[in-house]
Amino acid sequence: MTEIFRIIPITSATASVAQQSGAVQDYTGLGVPHGYGQVADTLQRPLRDLRISVTDRCNLRCTYCMPREAFDKDHAFLQRADLLSFEEIERLARLFIHLGVQKIRLTGGEPLLRRGIERIIESLARLNTREGKPVEVALTTNAVLLSQKAQSLKDAGLARITASLDGLSEATFRCMSDSDVPVKTVLDGIAAAQRVGLAPVKVNMVVKRGVNDHEIIPMAGHFRNSGVVLRFIEFMDVGCTNGWRMDDVVPAREIVEQINSRYPVRQVDPNYTGEVAERWHYADGSGEVGVIASVTQAFCHECTRARLSTDGKLYTCLFASSGTDLRDPLRMSATDQMLAGLIADHWGRRNDRYSQLRHAVTEAPREKIEMSYIGG
Ligand code: SF4
Repeated sequence: MTEIFRIIPITSATASVAQQSGAVQDYTGLGVPHGYGQVADTLQRPLRDLRISVTDRCNLRCTYCMPREAFDKDHAFLQRADLLSFEEIERLARLFIHLGVQKIRLTGGEPLLRRGIERIIESLARLNTREGKPVEVALTTNAVLLSQKAQSLKDAGLARITASLDGLSEATFRCMSDSDVPVKTVLDGIAAAQRVGLAPVKVNMVVKRGVNDHEIIPMAGHFRNSGVVLRFIEFMDVGCTNGWRMDDVVPAREIVEQINSRYPVRQVDPNYTGEVAERWHYADGSGEVGVIASVTQAFCHECTRARLSTDGKLYTCLFASSGTDLRDPLRMSATDQMLAGLIADHWGRRNDRYSQLRHAVTEAPREKIEMSYIGG
């Protein structure tokens, strides 16, 4: 066993943080891996947020995430046995919480395609943070199945939901999602989430120049006075299949200027350190709009997000090329101590700043993990 699982000595970074935080209180009553507390990376960014991809499959083919030509009928999606089981997800989540995670976001692919998603939410919503507060469980969805699922997600303990919608007109939505799903299906899903109390619902729109940027104002107009927080996302060079070009990016600054010229806005402070969206309030009080500017205003310096892929690999950046396998050690009966050591060691060595360095990178682009595999 040891020759496979090298007992990871606590690195100075993780050790010092563990010592600073003193005795580790065990809120799950399932035993704390000795010596592990809040971990931080080489840039002193604490591990705070965990995104868990519960499936690599999706019922849409959004061109910026899962272009059909790359994810066609011959694409080798993960088989059921490859996926982390509910119990494995919960066990790993517990260890991430010991190491500092306070918020968990379920993603995919499309997470509502994972049968029994409510069971995963229930088990995660029962967990407490190191501070003894309930872990916040959120979910990102394309909302195609949300009308049917909203109530059961809420009942399972889901705290927040973010839906994706890249246009209001059928033509634009069809073009961005490469599907025949009616826009009304997504809008009904968003309304259902609001109705059951998953508010404030956030809606994300990825903006591609010359494709859907003409819908920025109609989308803003549609969601003003609705209680929905609409966020515009700069088109990103995630993975290696979406044909990204800088020319197709509409900078956040330009999006805000467009909105401000039609609906005056004023900037407001982030809700918390590390919040990815820049927040703007409509001057007339009709709501909030945001921009997520990973390309033109990188926010790596505050990035506290780890990602767990559908088959149990740990990635520390959306633009990562490699990760640490946690599933096989877990299935070969590694102890909590060993697994926590693997996580703490990987995060402790982290120095990811892809977006900050994107324009400075001269070497050939490297193979990046696809977003549909590790969640947006
Ligand atoms: S590029 Fe990587 S390090 Fe930077 S904010 Fe995004 S996920 Fe975090």
